[in-house]
Amino acid sequence: MQRRCILIAALTAALLKADDIPVYRNPSKTIEERTEDLLSRMTQAEKVGQLSQGVLRPGVADPNAYIQPIRSGAIGSYILGLNSDDPAARNTLQEIATKQSRLGIPLIFGFDTIHGLRTVFPIPLAISCTWDPALFEKLEAVAARESRAAGIDWVFGPMCDLARDPRWGRVAETFGEDPYLASLFAAAAVRGLQGQDPAAPDRVAACLKHFAGYSAAEGGRDYNHTNVPEFAMRNLFLPAFHAGVRQGALSVMSAFNANDGIPSTASRFLLTQVLRDEWKFSGFVVSDWEAVYETIPWGFAADEAEAARRSLTAGTDMEMVSTTYRDTLPTQVSEGRLSQASIDASVRRVLGVKFKLGLFERPFTDAKLFRSAMVQSDGLALAREAAARSCVLLKNEKLLPLERSLMRIAVLGPLANDRDEMLGTWPGHGSAADVVTLAEGIRAKIPAARVEVVRGCPLLETQRTRTLTDGKVVVDESADDARTATIENAVRAASQAEVCILALGEPRGWTGENASRARLGLTGRQQQLLDAVAATGKPVVVVLFCGRPLQLTTVLDSAQAVLVAWQPGIQGGDAIADLLFGDAAPSGRLTMSFPIDVGQLPVYYNRYNTGRPVLEMVNYRDLTREALFPFGFGLTYTSFSYEPVQIKTGETDMASALITNTGTREGEEIVQLYIRDMACSEGARPQQELRGFERVRLRPGESREVHFKLTDEVLGFFGRDGNWRVEPGSFQIWIAPHAQTGTPASYSR
Ligand code: BGC
Repeated sequence: MQRRCILIAALTAALLKADDIPVYRNPSKTIEERTEDLLSRMTQAEKVGQLSQGVLRPGVADPNAYIQPIRSGAIGSYILGLNSDDPAARNTLQEIATKQSRLGIPLIFGFDTIHGLRTVFPIPLAISCTWDPALFEKLEAVAARESRAAGIDWVFGPMCDLARDPRWGRVAETFGEDPYLASLFAAAAVRGLQGQDPAAPDRVAACLKHFAGYSAAEGGRDYNHTNVPEFAMRNLFLPAFHAGVRQGALSVMSAFNANDGIPSTASRFLLTQVLRDEWKFSGFVVSDWEAVYETIPWGFAADEAEAARRSLTAGTDMEMVSTTYRDTLPTQVSEGRLSQASIDASVRRVLGVKFKLGLFERPFTDAKLFRSAMVQSDGLALAREAAARSCVLLKNEKLLPLERSLMRIAVLGPLANDRDEMLGTWPGHGSAADVVTLAEGIRAKIPAARVEVVRGCPLLETQRTRTLTDGKVVVDESADDARTATIENAVRAASQAEVCILALGEPRGWTGENASRARLGLTGRQQQLLDAVAATGKPVVVVLFCGRPLQLTTVLDSAQAVLVAWQPGIQGGDAIADLLFGDAAPSGRLTMSFPIDVGQLPVYYNRYNTGRPVLEMVNYRDLTREALFPFGFGLTYTSFSYEPVQIKTGETDMASALITNTGTREGEEIVQLYIRDMACSEGARPQQELRGFERVRLRPGESREVHFKLTDEVLGFFGRDGNWRVEPGSFQIWIAPHAQTGTPASYSR
């Protein structure tokens, strides 16, 4: 009885207390109620502070630099610097925001966790070659767990840009050149990062970037102008974003590019008409790094005030790094050049996400969690699986899988034993110490063999090293190490070996942001190294580490087997050894076409027919227009045959084909459905579009019929009004192992 009285008294006290606390601090109120209450208490400076994001500069140990702006509410968010691999800095700043600022609004911390944080996975382009979004969802859940534990609430991914031109270094961050496949990966990323409840201690907010058309940069030169007309924008460049929004992504990042003269960051069409009015996106938009300010050098805005006003009113809620919002918006409102409503609308969106992330209730990161969350065994197993399944076998003249009885193996090339290079274009908090290199993977796989490892040559004629400035990776020229890595040494090792495995490619610093290439061959003297090793007559396997399709004709000439391993992450070496020695079979398929020559670019598979298709076939006098390796291509250790596609009409029409394993080993095939809409009143459709795929695993001699439903979803397109529709008429439908083969069947609707 006495205990009951105490309980009732405690409950009453708690209820009374709940009445005392402001609505915005009361988690039992709705997010809308909390947001409105908070907004009504904010000064203009505090409001604009919520729209401003700074950088937590690495190496700045002195939190005093941050105290004043945070205490006064002049800043609402930070990008965590690359080397802030401990949540302590975040907690210190968060303490100031929540305990010393007038309203105690928590900061939101963002970071580029792009292919894992500490457990570094293969780059997104590699992951897309698994054609397995469900696997990606699991990787992203691990990335989210590590990120939140490291004090990151918000991850600047997934990148939803469509790969078009391999000269553009950022194709490494994309899911390839097909909008349907990219949409599946974008949605999977959002599910993996945000989970059911982004406020959970192991989830984060996702950010779909870079909205939109950024990847169409002229000449593949990063940050360049784009010319993507609306119909192509809607059908090629926007679907992956749309899929991410439908999946509930909490934020979107506007892109650096100007499309048809309009910077994306100030594009009303993209940020208001499409994103909010058509797609009903309710999260917030952050600009890319200084992209609001950059509307001035683009020649679009005359000064900072105009840059800020046009970006905000177009729909960019938060400004990353530059400070035009903070510096000009309050005056623009008081002078009547900007409405209060447009500021309030953006503040509401930012606060809404902070509430959804539970930041008001749990602003701090548990430092103990940080220690225990990193590099766990489930993440490591996923990293190995993902690295193996993202490799694509391009050539195999009966060399792979290698015999386990080999006694002398030469592992050669600048990437044979380089830990740092395996971390890829966005290494997060990855540590080279966690990496298993190819040489180590092979040694562990065949412990009885004598494995000789020789670099042969550096990756570049002048070796470059990386440094960090303002949280960004900067690449520096420095001394050549050619003297220590000679081709002669490699040839000597090769001549004593039974097989040579060459680890070649391009430096990771030549991929990703601001890393375009005009030429796509192996860098430095690697081709000479390969040719010299091949001249020994020993069998040669080339394992390619790269962040983009490379130009490979001369590599194919010198190697009996070529496996593309991309930038595989920390488990790359073990995963590739699994494939080379047959413990696993290659199952990856290209998601981006490999050109024969740079002069053909672009060579993406989903191109348009012309009015003169026969002449167009040969319209380079000196080269075919076809890719060297097309979208969808990839070999494995067995082979498959395809019967012609059959169309069955019924309640739901179906396309099907019989697939048979014609080889001697069990294997996995990715069966691909392509369509062509023969006439479209709103504008021509590409001459082929991937609209489905299915993974089949077959034993030798086994056959399976694979079926695809021909639904509206499969046959349609986005109309110019943004709605998905199917027009009655003729289609071609085919089922094929890659984009450059298959016999279409006619189908009408
Ligand atoms: C990149 C973004 C990235 C941002 C924050 C920019 O330079 O374009 O992809 O998220 O920096 O680091």
